[in-house]
Amino acid sequence: MLSFFDAREQIVEAVTTVETEQVNLLDSVGRAIRTDILADQPLPSFDNSAMDGYAVRACDCGDGTCLPLDGYLPAGGRANDCLQPGSAVKIMTGAPVPEGADAVVPFEQTEEKDGQVTIFGQVKKGDHIRWKGEDFRPGSMLLSAGSVVRPAEVSLIASFGITEVAVCRPVRVAILSTGDELQEPGKERLPGQISDSNSWALAAAVREIGAEPQLLGIARDERDCLREKLKAGLEADVLVTSAGVSAGDRDYVREILDELGVEQQFWKVGIKPGKPTAFALRGTIPVFSLPGNPVSTMITFEEFVRPALLKMMGHRELFKPLLNARLLKSVNKKPGRLQLLRVIVDTTPTGELTVVSAGDQNTGILRTMSAAQGIAYLAADAGTFSEGDVIPFHLLGAATQLGC
Ligand code: AMP
Ligand code: MG
Repeated sequence: MLSFFDAREQIVEAVTTVETEQVNLLDSVGRAIRTDILADQPLPSFDNSAMDGYAVRACDCGDGTCLPLDGYLPAGGRANDCLQPGSAVKIMTGAPVPEGADAVVPFEQTEEKDGQVTIFGQVKKGDHIRWKGEDFRPGSMLLSAGSVVRPAEVSLIASFGITEVAVCRPVRVAILSTGDELQEPGKERLPGQISDSNSWALAAAVREIGAEPQLLGIARDERDCLREKLKAGLEADVLVTSAGVSAGDRDYVREILDELGVEQQFWKVGIKPGKPTAFALRGTIPVFSLPGNPVSTMITFEEFVRPALLKMMGHRELFKPLLNARLLKSVNKKPGRLQLLRVIVDTTPTGELTVVSAGDQNTGILRTMSAAQGIAYLAADAGTFSEGDVIPFHLLGAATQLGC
């Protein structure tokens, strides 16, 4: 059977980046910038003071030196005059350092009286000066294509006076739930019916990474209904379906996709949960047919669809970093498939990462999916994972509340 890593590789190889659009800097948060951004000027753009204090020549200063005051420079002011040797200029944080000065002595290290300032302690050349270009020199790389914009990058870009950036347009992801037993949440359920949670979970996961979900609703396990809905789904950039891809006698999804000219790339991957996952292409449109158990749907989205969508939206980092953690309690599995284990993540008092099973790993159990902070990869060929073994895992979602 196709291995997890080969399946993932095939998927990201097959998908292509969508068109670029210019957006307001604030609207680029969470998105990947499309082109390298180079510094077109130095940052800072002029030598300026890092403290409120006095601009001086370091060579004029010693412990107890008294210098006459010769001017005042507020932030936003202009340093028109040179500093006269043997004098000091009062200067505020961010104000331009006057020519001739090579240090700023902070107020805390001085005493001002009758137009004179007395300096205490030693003063070194360069003290408390932010030099022109020390952060970025003209021509240096501010951000490389594929980097994600966070508040720090917004700050960086705004510092250069840039207010618009090129990013990929959001990818439109059609989402279709299939199954005779499904009812829309909020509507009355007849005996035997369950709420369609997959559409919502998938839409949430799509939205979380800045793509645009398009809910197609529910298709019954019936060829005509499926054909109509799947056809509509192929109008989007990506089509994601859930259920109807196992070996059940009403699992028609792959058959109808084939009829619609969608070429299957693979069906079944050596993972647990998520084995019946299918991946197909119609031209450049990727079609993911995910298994229907809600946990399998969410995990296969996380592992297969998410990286594909990120690539389509120009991200450089497609996969979450794998971290190593010590297993707190042994886990057994059948050798053969890679297990994607829902885990609780914590740290030891010495700062070592730990993971432990989030509980019942049955694909019908939503509780442990919600409790999980990460997914650990239990190697396909192994069967026993003992307490203390080091295993790889990645975080789920933002997972900001580790150990809670
Ligand atoms: P299937 O892949 O069609 O065999 O479905 C596997 C299991 O997932 C069945 O118990 C379904 O009832 C359940 N299931 C399928 N689709 C959904 C959905 N959209 N929301 C919640 N549960 C679902
Ligand atoms: Mg079904």
